[in-house]
Amino acid sequence: MARVAKRYNTNYKKRVNVERDMYLPRWAPKGILYCGGCGAVYYRRRWTLTPPPEVRDWVEFREGVSAARCPACRKIRDRYPSGELRLLGAAPKEKREIFLMLRNEEERARQKNPLERIMRIEEDGADWRVETTTEKLAQRLGRSLEKAFGGSVTYKWSHNNKFARVIWQKEAMEKIA
Ligand SMILES: [Zn+2]
Repeated sequence: MARVAKRYNTNYKKRVNVERDMYLPRWAPKGILYCGGCGAVYYRRRWTLTPPPEVRDWVEFREGVSAARCPACRKIRDRYPSGELRLLGAAPKEKREIFLMLRNEEERARQKNPLERIMRIEEDGADWRVETTTEKLAQRLGRSLEKAFGGSVTYKWSHNNKFARVIWQKEAMEKIA
């Protein structure tokens, strides 16, 4: 199939090692899709929260627009994260600030790519676990934490690079201080 050959030519090395994200369609769906879960619109081969005005009109009047769940909403429904961020040793007084920063970063990532979402945040004292729909978002959150609150970040990949585990630890900073 010509289509397959073309895909391999453009990104050969990456595609051999990286397992597909099963939540992304193998072929680009036709037409415009609208996700009732988060309001994202699939248009021109990507999901967006800010489609051009004419597309927004089509969505509003359901003209040639199919209802669908976007990959992020399906991952959230199935609780199938692609990234996990652990926060170890977060100071209780910084809790609120950290929480707001995580949500802010998520919002900024989402404006560019609506498939980047925080799925859940679990807290067990000073040990937090944040699940994300993409490995990229977990990395981004880790980097932002390091920038804003110090500490150190380690990154681990598994499942053929399709799952990222990011650990942010506050202690490293406190040892230096
Ligand atoms: Zn959605």
